[in-house]
Amino acid sequence: MFSPEAYALAEGLVSKAYINQGSQATARRSKLVTSLLSERRLPKDGWDDHSIESFLSEAAMMDSNNFLDNVGVGEREARVYSPLVARRHWNLAHGIGRSGDVAAEQPKAAGSSLLNKLTNLLVADAMRIAGLEDMGPALVLPLATGMTLTLVLLAVKSKRPKTATKVVWCRLDQKTCVKAVLSAGLELVVVSPKLVGDQLCTDLDAVRAAVEAAGPANVCCVVTSTSCFAPRAGDACSDVAKMCAELDVGHVVNNAYGVQATALCKEVTKAWRRGRVDAVVQSTDKNFMVPVGGAVVCSGKGNTEIVDAVRKSYPGRASISPVLDLLITLLSMGSHGWQRCLEDRGDVYGYMRTKLGECVGEFGERLLDTPGNPISIGVSLETHAKLSEDGKDVSFFGSMLFSRCVSGTRVVAPGKRQDVGGVVFDGFGASHDAYPVPYFTAAAALGTTREDVDRFCAQLRKCFKDFRKKAAKRGRAGDGDALDAAADRLAGVNLGGS
Ligand SMILES: *Cc1c(COP(=O)(O)O)cnc(C)c1O
Repeated sequence: MFSPEAYALAEGLVSKAYINQGSQATARRSKLVTSLLSERRLPKDGWDDHSIESFLSEAAMMDSNNFLDNVGVGEREARVYSPLVARRHWNLAHGIGRSGDVAAEQPKAAGSSLLNKLTNLLVADAMRIAGLEDMGPALVLPLATGMTLTLVLLAVKSKRPKTATKVVWCRLDQKTCVKAVLSAGLELVVVSPKLVGDQLCTDLDAVRAAVEAAGPANVCCVVTSTSCFAPRAGDACSDVAKMCAELDVGHVVNNAYGVQATALCKEVTKAWRRGRVDAVVQSTDKNFMVPVGGAVVCSGKGNTEIVDAVRKSYPGRASISPVLDLLITLLSMGSHGWQRCLEDRGDVYGYMRTKLGECVGEFGERLLDTPGNPISIGVSLETHAKLSEDGKDVSFFGSMLFSRCVSGTRVVAPGKRQDVGGVVFDGFGASHDAYPVPYFTAAAALGTTREDVDRFCAQLRKCFKDFRKKAAKRGRAGDGDALDAAADRLAGVNLGGS
């Protein structure tokens, strides 16, 4: 707010030397803004909160609702009743986009429009740093992954022949994607992954067979996923991309939390370099540690048609909130902070595999061998399933962990049948009709610390012990002894005696 003239006048009130020093301090902050606007990428070092707040507040002053002399007589004048709500949004109340395009400029909101454009550019830079090369423009939407997938599917459908109503989906047991397909009015064709050792991998022959059986002209697209629960591996997106190019069908990649893993970013890059990828969707909360509410759509720079179509088909204006959360986070991280988050995550994944492997080995269980999944880790519950009445009670293990304040693990016991929007899945949870082993999963996701892993293992040990006690109480002590012996053998522990 201080012009050169204002500084000169200030010198009439406070010593020139002090004002000079003060003005240099504010000039340093202004410089952050000018380099951000000229470079249009993440600042190397994260900004302090004060700089971020002044930047947002100055941007807000460029929106008509915050003009000193504005008289608003339209039906949408960004009026906010509660001062608390206004403050929560830095008085940015006009939202983003116009009815014709969610990334278009708002005439009444130069500030909001600027922040929105910057966010799309900065997130693209962050994704490039994470390993997504040759990427086209990124589009942040104030919708979580599932709703964004629906919009993307509708955009792909609009570019396909009228008959193309089928979506060939590489099964991944997460209800959202199924609902995204059904909500878009499309028909789901499920392709199961194939079991290779412990791991569930993309069955390329089955994908091809499904597209050919439906007839390519009747297929809207194939949907693959990168990030998923172990023991499923990330899909062979690049092989599917090549196949989609050859068969002339669309290809959408659900990269929900894949940005955080270099290996998954590499696979997506390979996919859009070598084959057909119409759009890739990723969650903002899972990849950038912001509250739920946003997703990023992108594609390779050679094929940006669908991202453009999504921008233009988005009905109406949109909330700036998720955009703002992401912008604040990215400015606060800077490229160095972001790189550190990514490196730490990779490190914690290795640490979790080691520590968890040691821990569960003590109880006769083992890590599932899933080299194609760089985030989620599966742990067998085979030994413990034998302890429970019908092999199904192992799901109880999940509630035991939960009551010990461990959240995020997921126990999958075979044989669960589940209806999702009318589509019935056998063995639901495992992404396979009959995965042979009961197991639980845990994830080394962005933001997980080594301390989290240590505390998790400590609680896990208590749960294993409790589980055994409960099983013994159920009058199956004999089996419990047998189990202990088996566990000791597996763990290589020789207690001596007999
Ligand atoms: C989280 C997730 C979703 C759903 O995301 P929302 O952001 O809740 O819509 C879909 N698919 C996968 C693989 C996910 O991990």
